[in-house]
Amino acid sequence: MTEYKTVKEAMKQGSGKVSLQGWVYRERGSSKLKFIVLRDSTDIIQCVLEKDKLGDKKFDVADKVQVETSMRIHGIIKEDKRAPTGYEIAVEDFEVVGASNEFPITKDQSTEFLADNRHLWLRSRRMTAILKIRSTVFHAIDDYFRKEGFYIYHSPCFSPNNCEGGSTVFKVDYFGTPMYLTQSWQLYAEAGIFSLGNIYTIAPSFRAERSKTSRHLTEYWHAEMEMAWCKFEDILKHAEQIIKFIVQKVLENNQEELKILERDPKKLEPIVKKPFIQMTYTDALKVLKEKCNMDVEWGKDLRTIEEEKLTKLYEVPLLVTRYPKKVKAFYMKVDPENEDVVLGVDCLAPEGYGEIIGGSQREESPEEIERRLRAQGEDPKSYGWYLDLRKYGSIPHGGFGLGVERVITWICGLDNIKDAIPFPRTMLRFNP
Ligand code: ATP
Ligand code: MG
Repeated sequence: MTEYKTVKEAMKQGSGKVSLQGWVYRERGSSKLKFIVLRDSTDIIQCVLEKDKLGDKKFDVADKVQVETSMRIHGIIKEDKRAPTGYEIAVEDFEVVGASNEFPITKDQSTEFLADNRHLWLRSRRMTAILKIRSTVFHAIDDYFRKEGFYIYHSPCFSPNNCEGGSTVFKVDYFGTPMYLTQSWQLYAEAGIFSLGNIYTIAPSFRAERSKTSRHLTEYWHAEMEMAWCKFEDILKHAEQIIKFIVQKVLENNQEELKILERDPKKLEPIVKKPFIQMTYTDALKVLKEKCNMDVEWGKDLRTIEEEKLTKLYEVPLLVTRYPKKVKAFYMKVDPENEDVVLGVDCLAPEGYGEIIGGSQREESPEEIERRLRAQGEDPKSYGWYLDLRKYGSIPHGGFGLGVERVITWICGLDNIKDAIPFPRTMLRFNP
């Protein structure tokens, strides 16, 4: 049995016989000599095929090989400074596994064309680099919560309530009864802490976002946590620590990918080393006025443009706390020291990337929750089970939700969130 190595393993071996399997990344040649750059998930490597060595018949097959053909290649590897990745394989034999004729993606294609061919574009070095960083980020989130002793807990994706803003919820037909796709794991998670204490999940959330922004998907991966007996400061602490942990893991594991993406790691290093900046919403408005010449009326939520201007002033994330009660969800706890604001926090990524985490201490009083539900035109009766949680042994608790693609977009330095997920779903794009 032939032992196949990955491109990276073969380069590590550095000399002697190797067998590889992969796809043709590039090919060019003459009547006697053919160069194939072979790609696999680990890297690319130049392979040289000579007519004199392979014989006329075999060389003829090699000559017809096109981009994205899958192949097995056997040959001798050696260092070669001129080769794209510093190594070259002198091919002694090869097999074509799957032919590829006229691969549709060629140089300089439009963004729309690449989106239509997303299933093929995923193979690009750029998408491979992003997907590897995405994998590190998911692992890091899991590792973080596990090391902190959180249990994994799951909420249903079908919900009978259209919690938090009816306009952005997807309605589905559930055997004739209207149901809604979940926007957040949180409400059902609040039931889980009475059983498990501290819990987390990484699951899809669905939001019928009509705005065509570069940071909203209709289906995104949401890492959420909920803590029993927690203080507002605990939420801030975990928000800062998990972001530091994720960035540190990417810096440890993905230097090559950051290079492919032309993302300067120096921009990420302060995230691990320096403390995040905490400021209240009210102070954020002052900074916007003084440093950005932007007037935001107290009580208005920060818009994308304001978050962008604000976060461009700093090299580390901001933890903006104590937002006006009326712009935040009904379950956020009113600040005991100021009834106009809630104990909520948004973590805003630097360089203009904006919100990556939203969290809060949860309101404990059932009367206050009912009042706020009514104020936003909802019937508290449909939250009966949720209100029960405040009637039977209510405790101080809270948590946050982290938009995984938002974090990936920022870490990778992408212009648009669509590239942070293999098959993006937005209002206008849901194919393939
Ligand atoms: P925004 O104001 O940016 O729309 P939000 O206030 O609606 O965000 P939350 O309800 O607090 O967001 O959700 C928690 C986290 O989920 C956000 O901090 C963000 O990282 C992420 N998120 C929210 N909506 C989306 C979306 N449509 N696509 C991708 N990520 C999202
Ligand atoms: Mg939103």
